[in-house]
Amino acid sequence: MECKIVTIPGDGIGPEIVREACKVLDKVGRVYGHTFSYKEILMGGCSIDAYGVPLTDEALAEAKAADAVLLGAVGGNVGNSRWYDVAPNLRPEAGLLAIRKGLGLFANMRPAYLYQELAQACPLKKEIIGDGFDMVIMRELTGGLYFGERHTEEVDGVLQAVDTLTYNEHEIRRIAIKAFDIAMKRRKKVTSVDKANVLDSSRLWRKVVEEVAKDYPEITLEHMLVDNCAMQLVMNPRQFDVILTENMFGDILSDEASMITGSIGMLSSASMNETKFGLYEPSHGSAPDIAGKDVANPIATILSAAMMLRYSFDLDKEASAIEAAVQKVLTEGYRTVDIMAEGCEQTGTARMGDLIAERIG
Ligand code: NAD
Repeated sequence: MECKIVTIPGDGIGPEIVREACKVLDKVGRVYGHTFSYKEILMGGCSIDAYGVPLTDEALAEAKAADAVLLGAVGGNVGNSRWYDVAPNLRPEAGLLAIRKGLGLFANMRPAYLYQELAQACPLKKEIIGDGFDMVIMRELTGGLYFGERHTEEVDGVLQAVDTLTYNEHEIRRIAIKAFDIAMKRRKKVTSVDKANVLDSSRLWRKVVEEVAKDYPEITLEHMLVDNCAMQLVMNPRQFDVILTENMFGDILSDEASMITGSIGMLSSASMNETKFGLYEPSHGSAPDIAGKDVANPIATILSAAMMLRYSFDLDKEASAIEAAVQKVLTEGYRTVDIMAEGCEQTGTARMGDLIAERIG
């Protein structure tokens, strides 16, 4: 298979971790007979330095023409960087919003997986963790409260602020289809999270999700209220496979879910549109405090590349090979500094990439 990938190394540790992900992809290509070609574009602070804007139209056009996009991270030291003395729409992170919008990425997927080897970093009790958890949060990314009409006004001398939460059935249907499709590649369970006891938008959400479920008879669907879900995530995270939810609930729940895995350097993510196209990136930022020191953990980016193989290219076997290689390296006791534990061997960014690549095939 031939796959055209646009890479966006970005700022801070971005170039270091994207390099390692490409190293691992190249190994997959050699072992399984695929060709991954890369076209690098600038986004974030590096694009501001080169062109005065965080994302040029040309760069966006390159991304649109690719089969998938692999992103490191963008942004600098917010309190102390020339990139932030400008209007918000010219700051590095504006590039992220522009590319998500430009590519129509409405579905955000964040896995929360607990590696037994890193269980000591999980803040939950051992009896709750059991033999670990493995879930994906599928969050709607372009609708709901964050995109609704809003205003602040004075009414009879009292300030009043209004935000509106709107969803139409098409927006709900397309994200529900994504969640059910992903569940078909996993343990075939979808937990749809809403606040249907209060919100009209949630009642419509529930109705549409149930309609979509009829096309997926193999999938077990359950509904859960968002307040209960926040509780269940820390009481019994093992019950979840795919959590499907709207924008704001997903924002909050996905942070909670990533927190209970305990290690930010391990968390991958994907944002997708209606086709197989996706933008894959680690959940963490550009970590300017450790940039250029060969200490950043590249695993979140490498696992994001595995998601790209599985969800954009349908290369499930190859994606599993990367995940197995990561598991093997951890079992053998290799750790970057952020996940270092007693008795383990500390490695830098590039060596971690080598170790993972060597364990493929
Ligand atoms: P951050 O995720 O970059 O860093 C938080 C802490 O985690 C830091 O101590 C950092 O050293 C550490 N860390 C993060 N990733 C790591 C890795 N792979 N290996 C080892 N340690 C790691 O968050 P922040 O400090 O709040 O933000 C820094 C910059 O990143 C800001 O400019 C912010 O806007 C930007 N940011 C970008 C994205 C993105 O590009 N998608 C996401 C979040 C933040």
